[in-house]
Amino acid sequence: MIARSYNCVTISRAALQHNYNYIKSRVGPDVRVMAMVKADGYGHDMVKAAKAFADVGCDVFGVAELCEAVTLRNSGISGQIFVMLGFEDVQADSVLAYDLTPVVFDSRAVESLSCSALKAGREIGVHIKVDTGMSRLGVKPGELVEFIEEIERLGGISIAGIMSHFPESDNPGSKSTETGFASFADTCRALKNRYKSICHIANSGAVLNFPNTHCDMVRAGIALYGYHPAGSQPSEGAAVEGLIPAMTFSSKVVQVQSVPEGTGISYGHTFTTDRETRLAVLPVGYEDGYSRILSNCGEVLIRGRRAPVRGRICMNLCMVDVTDIGEVSAGDKVVFLGRQGKEVITADDIAEKMESISYEVLCLLGNNNERSYRE
Ligand SMILES: *Cc1c(COP(=O)(O)O)cnc(C)c1O
Repeated sequence: MIARSYNCVTISRAALQHNYNYIKSRVGPDVRVMAMVKADGYGHDMVKAAKAFADVGCDVFGVAELCEAVTLRNSGISGQIFVMLGFEDVQADSVLAYDLTPVVFDSRAVESLSCSALKAGREIGVHIKVDTGMSRLGVKPGELVEFIEEIERLGGISIAGIMSHFPESDNPGSKSTETGFASFADTCRALKNRYKSICHIANSGAVLNFPNTHCDMVRAGIALYGYHPAGSQPSEGAAVEGLIPAMTFSSKVVQVQSVPEGTGISYGHTFTTDRETRLAVLPVGYEDGYSRILSNCGEVLIRGRRAPVRGRICMNLCMVDVTDIGEVSAGDKVVFLGRQGKEVITADDIAEKMESISYEVLCLLGNNNERSYRE
């Protein structure tokens, strides 16, 4: 029996590796590149993506939660694994057992880690998250000295790094990147004199737009998967060349039907044909990560031509107008994301229609469909 979905996300290992090498060449030999593989590798399969990066020399990875880090470790990744969102008290033993690198931002975490480390007769290095303008996770720069003193009083735990995050580095003219970095750099200078700690703040936007912020390590996410964080029209001066999108998403036509002028299409009849229309029915819906927001505005590629979505996206189906595209029949390949002939649809194109960003499109499509890697 061949039990496969019509729908298939295909990922190019070569594109992922090209993007890693490209980022590495931008930051130079003295700066480490952490591959952010959270969100199941931005939809690209965390374990397979991490292995692709590891095979071209990557030895540091970032995930959001401890459970992801454990999966990565159990799958044979031997590099350093950062857990960005901390952990619960009962998980402190696991941080040690799986040799993970925790990001810390409160007393509770460092106390429970210290406890576990002393019990195990080990010492663990932590990275402190500082909030220099994102207003998200982290200790405020003004609270840092107190937090560091607290860590110093505890046994079994040492400060291996300090990190922050940029809210607007995708924009090369952003003032917050300059002010945030100035604050971060001050903090790092003070710490570096006392500890053997490293500093890191740059995400993809800063990798591409702000070379002065690369510090000891950069944390690249979206660029590894082939997209610029600013979308398809990055502000003037932003670099876009050099990245190759790794993901494509395709399906097959399940039925073609003709309907007369004046026919309502799909739930709510939000589209009425203004001519006799040939519709291709496609087995892709919001359950497959093709957002319902794309109703009446999405586009797909069939026979190398663009076909517009008509009516609402259903749970497992949607309809496109193929009247102007010669002979279309059941079984024809349909490209939702990627290239067909001379036409291409990028995650930025889809994101624009959703008023979102490529990140969300990649997560939605990648994490809701069968995936296969192309060598
Ligand atoms: C996701 C993430 C990154 C990567 O961001 P991109 O914009 O995808 O490069 C970097 N740092 C932290 C803390 C993150 O959570």
